[in-house]
Amino acid sequence: MTPDTNIAQNLVDIRARIDEAARAANRAPDHITLVAVSKTHDAARIRLALQAGHRVFGENRVQEAEDKWPELKAAYPATELHLIGPLQRNKAKRAVQLFDVIETIDRLKLATTIAREMDEQGRRPDCYIQINTGEEPQKAGILAADADAFIGRCRDGLGLPVVGLMCIPPSDEEPSMHFALLARIAERNGLGRLSMGMSGDFETAVRFGASSVRVGTAIFGSRPVINAET
Ligand SMILES: *Cc1c(COP(=O)(O)O)cnc(C)c1O
Repeated sequence: MTPDTNIAQNLVDIRARIDEAARAANRAPDHITLVAVSKTHDAARIRLALQAGHRVFGENRVQEAEDKWPELKAAYPATELHLIGPLQRNKAKRAVQLFDVIETIDRLKLATTIAREMDEQGRRPDCYIQINTGEEPQKAGILAADADAFIGRCRDGLGLPVVGLMCIPPSDEEPSMHFALLARIAERNGLGRLSMGMSGDFETAVRFGASSVRVGTAIFGSRPVINAET
């Protein structure tokens, strides 16, 4: 981590690059949300982003988010917190309690548990289905071939508020074809939102229709290697 990372300036710079990529693709910049991925960064650093006016954040672990966010959300009530990491079923209750958006629905048992928790809590975070566009065995997500049926079961069968799709392309491949695939699956299922693109490829994701990009390193600086995941 670089202690002198200028978080406020990075936010301005990334937003400008998103806007520029959007205009180049004939898209409206304000249709693209910047999700600031604050995993591994402490509350003090996150506060710098909040003080700069940023309100949309992503975390990948329930426990870590619970340690940092209740207090931050109380201080900045308009904050929108996205879960972008794998979710275990035994943490579904806590995820529904804390997060405003759950981006990583990737199996039917989890979807079923989340639907039940939503009914019990009367809280309905927006849901994204994670698609494993690269068919990587170690990576979470529904295979593209199974996506239509899975989306139907979540949305129509379980009544989950499914708003879009999310993907993490293989790190060693050109991401465009993965973004295009995600866009096609969303389109044919009538889903309007696409969560795709990270620090290294968010401009490409915008070109392919991302409605939100998940950017961590380019805003907060690098993370400790021990927390590098998938
Ligand atoms: C960590 C993470 C990001 C942010 O990655 P950067 O390369 O730091 O921008 C985006 N999406 C997911 C799912 C992540 O886990």
